[in-house]
Amino acid sequence: MEDEREQAQQLVRLAQRELLEAANQLRAMRGYSPLSELPAPPFCSFCGRAKSEVGALVEGLGDAYICRECADEARHLLLKG
Ligand SMILES: [Zn+2]
Repeated sequence: MEDEREQAQQLVRLAQRELLEAANQLRAMRGYSPLSELPAPPFCSFCGRAKSEVGALVEGLGDAYICRECADEARHLLLKG
């Protein structure tokens, strides 16, 4: 039981680290300084910026959010096919 909880916590930490890395890659592409840790939720799941930095966030399923800038970028990518 203890082991399962420890394993679950390790998976959460791994997922958070991957999310932070992905956010920092996007932030670097846009000239934002890297984050040392993810901000308190809610934050954009794509660039890692907090609601206080980006204003409105659109909420998706599973605690996912997207900011206006990331939504615009996604729209352009989708329109390009
Ligand atoms: Zn964003």
